[in-house]
Amino acid sequence: MKSTSITPNLIQLTRVHFVNAYLVREDDGFTLIDTTMGGAADALIAAAHAAGGEIRRIALTHGHGDHVGSLDALEAKLGDTVSVLMPELDARIHAGEHVVDGKLPGSWPSLQTTPTGLLAAGDRVGSLEVVPAPGHTPGHVAYLDTRDRTLLAGDVYTTYGRAAVTNDFYLRFPFAAMATWDRERNLGSARALRTLEPAVLAVGHGPALRDPGAAMDEAIDRAARAVAPLSAEDRKAA
Ligand SMILES: [Zn+2]
Repeated sequence: MKSTSITPNLIQLTRVHFVNAYLVREDDGFTLIDTTMGGAADALIAAAHAAGGEIRRIALTHGHGDHVGSLDALEAKLGDTVSVLMPELDARIHAGEHVVDGKLPGSWPSLQTTPTGLLAAGDRVGSLEVVPAPGHTPGHVAYLDTRDRTLLAGDVYTTYGRAAVTNDFYLRFPFAAMATWDRERNLGSARALRTLEPAVLAVGHGPALRDPGAAMDEAIDRAARAVAPLSAEDRKAA
């Protein structure tokens, strides 16, 4: 697990070069954002210790397997000392509820852990504000650190090679695009996140970007061109 200090409040933890989790520093320890795939619990706990604290909260951006994969093992090791916060719709999908029509793309492994809290717009997780960002999954959320406007955007954007909205089938990292549930909604979320004027963009897949505004604008433009013809075709088919 590679540990990269992004800001004084944020550490990026990277596995196998392309899957990120984050430690957000708070007065009582760390909030862990996402957990990567399975098998990372010990390394995530060790990374928090190396950075000088305990994991106090686990907050998830969405329910896909490369974000929730080590949740059960972390919960087993940390038990009642951590709270587990999950976006409401994705938690309901994990609980077996049928919340949207049709098949959901991406991996949804079964979870033993029941979240201690379900997240909605405007909720606070320590210094983070919960920002709804649906589209990649039905319940996907982003987190804005209101201390320094760092945005933890999950899989709304990827930054491999260049910033991309995950709609965009970008060859160097197509997996996140392939797993996206609703491309138009995801593009709407990408636009909404842009209006937050983040100082740093930190995503599930790819390096963190400082002053990401221009890169986000370009990514939105490319994704809008990619979505438009598809919508026209969809209208014809309907
Ligand atoms: Zn995903």
